[in-house]
Amino acid sequence: MNNFTLHTRLHTEFVNIDNQVQEIVSASGCKEGIVHVYIPHTTAGITINENADPDVVADIETVLNRLVPWKAGYAHCEGNAAAHVKASLMGATATVIIHEGRLALGTWQSLYFCEFDGPRTRKVWIKIIPS
Ligand code: ZN
Repeated sequence: MNNFTLHTRLHTEFVNIDNQVQEIVSASGCKEGIVHVYIPHTTAGITINENADPDVVADIETVLNRLVPWKAGYAHCEGNAAAHVKASLMGATATVIIHEGRLALGTWQSLYFCEFDGPRTRKVWIKIIPS
């Protein structure tokens, strides 16, 4: 297993992690297979979405904030229930095909680490499975 560390800067933030994941895939020498990207956190997630227009991820953040307000009478005593809910909405894993040693993402797609309770130091775990 490989991993890397991420230092998020904002409370809510989508961070493009294509380069970090590609570096690990390249270093592995794997030409064909899949790469699992796993987020070992309960207040952060991962998603794949558009990288061309930054308004897209900004809109996703806006909609998540509208759906899951920070204060809404939650039971969780730590005070960050909204971040936990958003983490589950996004999910903790993404799987990308590796083709010819590169992440086989669509033209407009990128991998985004989704911070919902930052700023924090976060980890991303990577597992490459050649095929
Ligand atoms: Zn909590």
